[in-house]
Amino acid sequence: MEILKKFGRAAAKFALSGRNLLFPEHCYVCGEKISGDFGQIVCLRCRASLPVPESREQTINRLAEIHGFDNLNFIDAFCLFSPTDEFPFERLIYALKYGGVTKIGQVFGEILGELVKQNAGVKYDFVVPVPIHPAKKRERGYNQSVYIARAVSEAIGSNLELDIARRKEYTFSQTKLSARDRIFNVKNIFEVVQAEKVKNKVILLVDDVLTTGSTLNSFAGACLDAGARRIDVAALMRA
Ligand SMILES: [Zn+2]
Repeated sequence: MEILKKFGRAAAKFALSGRNLLFPEHCYVCGEKISGDFGQIVCLRCRASLPVPESREQTINRLAEIHGFDNLNFIDAFCLFSPTDEFPFERLIYALKYGGVTKIGQVFGEILGELVKQNAGVKYDFVVPVPIHPAKKRERGYNQSVYIARAVSEAIGSNLELDIARRKEYTFSQTKLSARDRIFNVKNIFEVVQAEKVKNKVILLVDDVLTTGSTLNSFAGACLDAGARRIDVAALMRA
């Protein structure tokens, strides 16, 4: 994730300090002491200033430019925020992904769920987090996208499915890869293992970050190949 590189070592230390994990007193976005209470994750100022990403149409158009319209496997894409210098929300993603602060997925997944609920043109049969490789799960201990997807599914009143697919390949960070290499890097890495559940279904796939959309597009393709009718995607951050 290119954007996380800017984040720097000092900020990582801040986000991952044991003190902040156990008794989060400081906002994960701006680092200010928290006075209000928003699940004790971000301050009220940052909460009220979610930096709005580009429109869904713009997202789809940009991704179609990268992948080609014919190769884009999802129809709609929902993202909650896009970090700015003033509101570096990538810190939040970092703490969710590497710092064990799974509550971030829960709290912001709810808000993402509300966004989907208000804007989705379809009713989703179920919600699926992007699977991580078992070896990565052993390393990290959890899949951050599960927490987001669970909150989204509750907000929109659709089921959560955790076992319909698996990740076959262990992929390394895509940070330094070009868009073309990212697409190649994640090609055919997902396998739908419960095709009967997927067949003819309208599914929302959930990830933490949407950058070039390569991972989500690969997963969406696997679902379509397994017989899904329509795939949309949702992510907390548009990078
Ligand atoms: Zn803040």
